[in-house]
Amino acid sequence: MKLARFAALSLLTPLAALLFPGRVRTAAAPPASSFVLVAHCGAGDYSKAPPGFIESRREAMIVAIKQGYAILASGGTSLDAVETTIRSMEDSGFFDAGRGAYYTRAGVPEMDAAIMDGRTLAAGSVASLQHIANPIHLARLVMEKTPHVMLVGPGAEEFAKSQGIELVSPFYFYNERLWESYKKAKSAEEKKQSSALKGDRDDEHGTVGVVALDQQGNLAAGTSTGGTVMKMPGRVGDSPIIGAGTYANNESCGVSATGTGEFFMRNIVAADICERVRYLHVSLEKAADDVVMKELVDQHGDGGVIALDRQGNVTTPFNTTGMMTGTVRADGKIVMKGWSKTAEPIIVPASQ
Ligand code: ASP
Repeated sequence: MKLARFAALSLLTPLAALLFPGRVRTAAAPPASSFVLVAHCGAGDYSKAPPGFIESRREAMIVAIKQGYAILASGGTSLDAVETTIRSMEDSGFFDAGRGAYYTRAGVPEMDAAIMDGRTLAAGSVASLQHIANPIHLARLVMEKTPHVMLVGPGAEEFAKSQGIELVSPFYFYNERLWESYKKAKSAEEKKQSSALKGDRDDEHGTVGVVALDQQGNLAAGTSTGGTVMKMPGRVGDSPIIGAGTYANNESCGVSATGTGEFFMRNIVAADICERVRYLHVSLEKAADDVVMKELVDQHGDGGVIALDRQGNVTTPFNTTGMMTGTVRADGKIVMKGWSKTAEPIIVPASQ
């Protein structure tokens, strides 16, 4: 009997692979001891950035990436590397995430974040947080300590308290530069200048995201943001929506997106890129390019993505004038680029 079942299975498996190639195929694992981490800090235009701003952001990203690199180099998990790298960027105050989150129209930051494990498809996400210093950590706790995928607003903050996370006052997020630009936009709004109501999207950027592949061949992705400039209170973007701004699946790829989230939600951008890889068997680069540089462009959807597959292929297309990224591999060189389309990459060592 057992023998007959074994024989049937051995016949069926290749048949299923023939009929449903995407479903049965298991993405090839990378060679052991190779690993990759790629990070972004938002898509937008740096041409009007204040002096020193690009350098400060680049430095803060490098500090963060070094921490993720150390975890991966010592055999740690991609999930830990993603969370740690994003936490460092949230704490720095240089990005639209955690300490540097933009203000809503009501003058209070509201933050969203998500993390996803490509090995198990477990995911955790949080949105509309006002008192959490590290939204990415809370997203991880939602993934690991609750039966849910997403918690929002006061419910998410109550859960944070139950996990021993201290709620911080909105003053923790105070940032003079952002407060000044908020006040300018607010007074323009009062004078009913409609362009100020929308915010000058291409000038603004700073969402952070990381995708990593660890030595065990597992992908993870995470994104953290204060959302768009002058967003309405209660507005949630793509970053915490699994499949829109954040996605990871060992069978295809990991993606973190940045840009005007409404377009990324309508186009389920992150999942679309991964599913093209999985079902159409196109390269990661083609899948990401087709979505970001064709479909989003046709809809005037501004932004970009970082994407990484299990073979260590990385692609970082953006249809804005800039999207700063940093990539590090087992060779320990962090390659920073993207503050303009023509910027020469800067390479720095990843060892502390
Ligand atoms: N995608 C983010 C949002 O819409 C913003 C950004 O990436 O700049 O909330």
